[in-house]
Amino acid sequence: RKGVVVVTGASSGLGLAAAKALAETGKWHVIMACRDFLKTEKAAKSAGIPKENYSIMHLDLASLDSVRQFVENFRRSGMALDVLVCNAAIYRPTAKTPTYTADGIEMSVGVNHLGHFLLARLMLEDLKKSDYPSKRLIIVGSITGNDNTLAGNIPPKAGLGDLRGLAAGLNSHHSSMIDGGSFDGAKAYKDSKICNMLTMQEFHRRFHEETGITFASLYPGCIATTGLFREHIPLFRALFPPFQKYITKGFVSEAESGKRLAQVVSDPSLTKSGVYWSWNKDSASFENQLSQEASDAEKARKLWEVSEKLVGLA
Ligand code: NDP
Repeated sequence: RKGVVVVTGASSGLGLAAAKALAETGKWHVIMACRDFLKTEKAAKSAGIPKENYSIMHLDLASLDSVRQFVENFRRSGMALDVLVCNAAIYRPTAKTPTYTADGIEMSVGVNHLGHFLLARLMLEDLKKSDYPSKRLIIVGSITGNDNTLAGNIPPKAGLGDLRGLAAGLNSHHSSMIDGGSFDGAKAYKDSKICNMLTMQEFHRRFHEETGITFASLYPGCIATTGLFREHIPLFRALFPPFQKYITKGFVSEAESGKRLAQVVSDPSLTKSGVYWSWNKDSASFENQLSQEASDAEKARKLWEVSEKLVGLA
């Protein structure tokens, strides 16, 4: 049978390109888990994704109820889950004030980390049940959360501190930042990406041996043309792609990044668990190092416990 892969945020950018790359092999059925059905349908059609190889299911990561509903709907479909890709994200670099999810949690961390945390925790049960030979749970990371790289050192730097803001609920009454500081949209995104990478490693520590599931993260390269930068100032949006192309040379096309994510989903040589994949200039994959904070096992454990409480699992 075909493998079944759920990809969140498959309506644009990296998620769409990966959905296309996987569906075109004919070996995968891609569930595009998205908040906007019509946008996703249009995107899938104009990308030319073969219609027998995808379906669209509603998922709004800014609502924990929607996450639970998605999991129920998926289970009702009777399909097995072989790979889950947590890819969706929002980035609000110019926001002066926080916005909140349906549950009253600051949006960047609420969507990018907590929505995915609940989704991945619930769907671990579905992954366990699948008889697919190489089951995987992939969480898209980013270099921006890595302070051992040049890009990761552009201010504001990520930092989760002692998680006091998160523990207090990241709501309008306390702090909307994980470390308890004042709101900074760019930092909130970077913090959420650190959470993604810590979560992947904690999944690995807790469940890899027992389940055989591969847990992995990746930095797909700088895909300077995606919708992620939609809220940035126009000058930035105009200059960022050529800057990445000619100056940092970190630029990758959406198609190339989609192939990289598809590799992490299905390549038989990328089955190692607990790895943060990156690609070199010749587009060859390698196991990258994480920053100190993004590989802090004690912080990963604490983040897991605090996150469980916030999403109603503990
Ligand atoms: P895009 O903005 O193009 O795609 C983001 C996707 O997330 C969209 O499909 C969007 O849906 C979806 N999304 C946003 N909010 C929600 C929500 N509440 N519920 C469900 N889906 C939601 O960005 P990219 O493709 O660039 O980003 C994909 C991943 O790649 C992210 O994890 C990002 O951190 C990572 N990444 C990107 C890099 C880059 O250079 N672009 C570099 C490193 C990592 P909708 O279409 O409805 O808005």
